[in-house]
Amino acid sequence: MAETLHIIGGGMAGSEAAWQAANIGVPVVIHEMRPKVETFAHRTGDLAEMVCSNSFRSDDDEQNAVGLLHWEMRAAGGLIMAMADQHRLPAGGALAVDRDPFAASVTAALKDHPLVRIEYDEITELPADGHWIIATGPLTSEGLGNAIAAETGKDALAFFDAIAPIIYHDSIDMSRAWMQSRYDKGETEEERTAYLNCPMDRDQYEAFIDALLAADKTEFHEGETATYFDGCLPIEVMAERGRETLRFGPMKPVGLTNPHAPDVKPYAVVQLRRDNALGTLYNIVGFQTKMKYGAQTSVLKMIPGLENAQFARLGGIHRNTFLNSPTLLDDQMRLRSRSHIRFAGQITGVEGYVESAAMGLLAGRLAAAEILGQPLQGPPQDTAMGALIHHITGGAEAKTFQPMNVNFGLFRPVEGLKGGRRGRKDRYKAYTDRAKTAWSDWLSRCTLDENQTV
Ligand SMILES: Cc1cc2nc3c(=O)[nH]c(=O)nc-3n(C[C@H](O)[C@H](O)[C@H](O)COP(=O)(O)OP(=O)(O)OC[C@H]3O[C@@H](n4cnc5c(N)ncnc54)[C@H](O)[C@@H]3O)c2cc1C
Repeated sequence: MAETLHIIGGGMAGSEAAWQAANIGVPVVIHEMRPKVETFAHRTGDLAEMVCSNSFRSDDDEQNAVGLLHWEMRAAGGLIMAMADQHRLPAGGALAVDRDPFAASVTAALKDHPLVRIEYDEITELPADGHWIIATGPLTSEGLGNAIAAETGKDALAFFDAIAPIIYHDSIDMSRAWMQSRYDKGETEEERTAYLNCPMDRDQYEAFIDALLAADKTEFHEGETATYFDGCLPIEVMAERGRETLRFGPMKPVGLTNPHAPDVKPYAVVQLRRDNALGTLYNIVGFQTKMKYGAQTSVLKMIPGLENAQFARLGGIHRNTFLNSPTLLDDQMRLRSRSHIRFAGQITGVEGYVESAAMGLLAGRLAAAEILGQPLQGPPQDTAMGALIHHITGGAEAKTFQPMNVNFGLFRPVEGLKGGRRGRKDRYKAYTDRAKTAWSDWLSRCTLDENQTV
């Protein structure tokens, strides 16, 4: 009998990790603290409870990156996808799920699995030895959070995210924007041109502040208290503090010359900074926000140069425990300082039910392969799974790391295809075709007990 894999947390990631590892033939113990210890968001003692919306988002596996992730998880015999399909609700192109029967059937499938045992206990220490996956999610209990922070250092474990919107570079109008660091600071040309600048005149700035003040905002969930740090106030809160606050904060126009109009001093400047090594994604510096998604897109498109912006992810501020994975985890999702511990799910810095389950699927397979003495390389970067794991364990900028949804900006460009809005349909189809081939190839190299079906 193979050695046991212990998984802390039976949410989206932990449940999927357990299913994958057990199906490969590795005994699994899931340690789940609910219902003994509750969180402010969960209502039941079931595994894989959906805490808020009941949507797995787009199910389009040709034109949408999350739809592609669905496809890859289905191809890998994923439990979360199988149960989501079984309890699907009508929702157009999206995959909406009947949440209670969904969670009940994930729980039942794992309880019935001969190689899975569930122990209802809270783990508050880092395990000293054995094989472990920590998948305790955005609401990791305080005891375990403190134990992780003691290992990683306080700065490498966050308890809130403060996400600024992220934009596809090829949707930015460079006839209005330009590349320049303030005061041309930097040793190299790359550093001197590290920021993408969008200028505003006075009327544009005043209209922007009005729109910010009027925009619909999201409230914090009940039980989710937020102490804004002065360094990461939402832009609309800054605007409420005074109409000039942003102009003296993230939108200050100093040290910059607009090459499109060198004689005109901008009244305010919005700056964007590269968000991934590929240079396909840019985040808006200092623009964390609690505006509702619809309001965000319309307000941010008022920024000159961003009129046609396509958003890879919108901003938000949430209670969210997550690691600085680019510095802490290796490409097998193992903690560099204690390689018998893997992390999976939202705590690794992915965001959303589907992404969390996907990272559980990978962690479960990688851990099981290691236990069976057949270590497995992670999936190729051209798959949705590979693009995500590559981003969180190395592709993302570690200094500004914030949680990420899967999106096509994480993929290596396909050569020879038209850029911009017009080429998008063909480009996305090329990404998803390439990903499916690479994923099928990777799966064929993994061992799976074919007798086990969902
Ligand atoms: C308030 C809120 C609203 C959200 N809304 C959405 C949404 O609408 N859509 C979306 O896609 N995502 C949403 N998310 C993010 C969502 O939580 C994740 O997408 C997903 O649930 C993460 O999966 P996970 O497995 O990493 O964590 P979880 O699903 O949260 O699972 C973690 C599990 O670990 C357990 N646990 C924690 N600490 C311990 C411990 N010390 N010992 C043992 N067990 C422990 C928890 O009880 C839980 O069951 C929301 C998150 C929050 C907090």
